[in-house]
Amino acid sequence: MPSVIRVPAEAQPSPHFDATAATNAYLAQIPPDKTARSDAYFEGGYWLILWDFLYGVVIALLLLNLRWSARMRDLSERVTRFHPVHTFVYWLQYMVLTSILLFPLTVYEGYFREHKYGLATQTFGPWIGDQLKNLGVNLVLGGLLAMLLFGVVRRLPRTWWIWGTVVTVLFFIFFALISPVYIVPIFNKVTRLDDPKIVDPILSMARANGIPAKDVYEIDASRQTTRMGANVSGFANTMRITLNDNLLRRGSPEEIQAVMGHEMGHYVMNHVYKGIMFLLIVTALAFAYLRWGLDWTLQRWGEKWQIRGVGDTAVLPLVMLLVAVFSFVYTPIDNTFTRTQEYEADMYGLNASRQPDGEAQADIHLGEYRKMNPGPVEEFIFFDHPSGRNRIYAAMRWKAENLSLFAKHEEAH
Ligand SMILES: [Zn+2]
Repeated sequence: MPSVIRVPAEAQPSPHFDATAATNAYLAQIPPDKTARSDAYFEGGYWLILWDFLYGVVIALLLLNLRWSARMRDLSERVTRFHPVHTFVYWLQYMVLTSILLFPLTVYEGYFREHKYGLATQTFGPWIGDQLKNLGVNLVLGGLLAMLLFGVVRRLPRTWWIWGTVVTVLFFIFFALISPVYIVPIFNKVTRLDDPKIVDPILSMARANGIPAKDVYEIDASRQTTRMGANVSGFANTMRITLNDNLLRRGSPEEIQAVMGHEMGHYVMNHVYKGIMFLLIVTALAFAYLRWGLDWTLQRWGEKWQIRGVGDTAVLPLVMLLVAVFSFVYTPIDNTFTRTQEYEADMYGLNASRQPDGEAQADIHLGEYRKMNPGPVEEFIFFDHPSGRNRIYAAMRWKAENLSLFAKHEEAH
């Protein structure tokens, strides 16, 4: 894909400007072989949702039926008599064992497949290094959450599902708070952007939108990937907007401003806080279902799996199995929640940046790893952002209603 995507004749301001024709002209700039490639990559991702789910279910059933889970529990109880330490020692064994069992799928999905589609930039050594760091973070933070949740279940055998919800959501907020400062830097270098050519227009847009930002951050995403991107991360006073270096290197100034307008939309419309409210509802549903599902399965197979009850750490693979079923069914709902917010951010971004062509350029670049033109049902189920076609069309629709802005601009030159 070329670095800077030109504005096609059909998208130039004229009395005959037509949003659909302009959208088609933008899409026509993508060579057919590139479309075939990104479609194949993205559609492969649909199947991976299924294979990940089935593979996870098989591993959980193995750990339960071969009584490996019960054996890991016995081993952790030999270390000490202190319950929270049992949980942590069990968690260590569980994470290491499942990471090994999942490794064939992880390496295909995260390494070979990414290289096949030209999206990965890491050789095998650094990639494995990142995987080990990731395992380390999961051991520590996941272990902490497991200790808290099993503590809740043992102390509150009747209402654990309510307090489990509260603990899980608070833990997520804690993670969001520390992530930009303590987790992200484990994998990437984050620096303050200081090129005034890029920063000044962004800070001007921030002031115009009532955002008290003094800094914009850059992340060296090119260490792992060729994908362009930007995000809003953090919570409360760690909240920040970060652009990745692929976007900064390959995006036009209009494109960068369009992306920043979108990210500011997430910020101004409090999407992080709304996302947490949504998470609270979904987590409560998940815990209610877990309470029912664990009772039902343990009554039938608890003895066979040598699990003593909900408070026994050996129950963990069963919890993961039930959670996997829940997440699998929940995928389209999650995607639709996110996609709705992304559409809102697109609308906000167009108004804030007034860069519909920058937006179209960004959508085409993001189309390097997303399908541009899916069917409506496909988009509903699998897309966590509006499709590229719909995003470009929305940008061109905005341009059609604001042509005077661009006509004046042309005259001034
Ligand atoms: Zn977004």
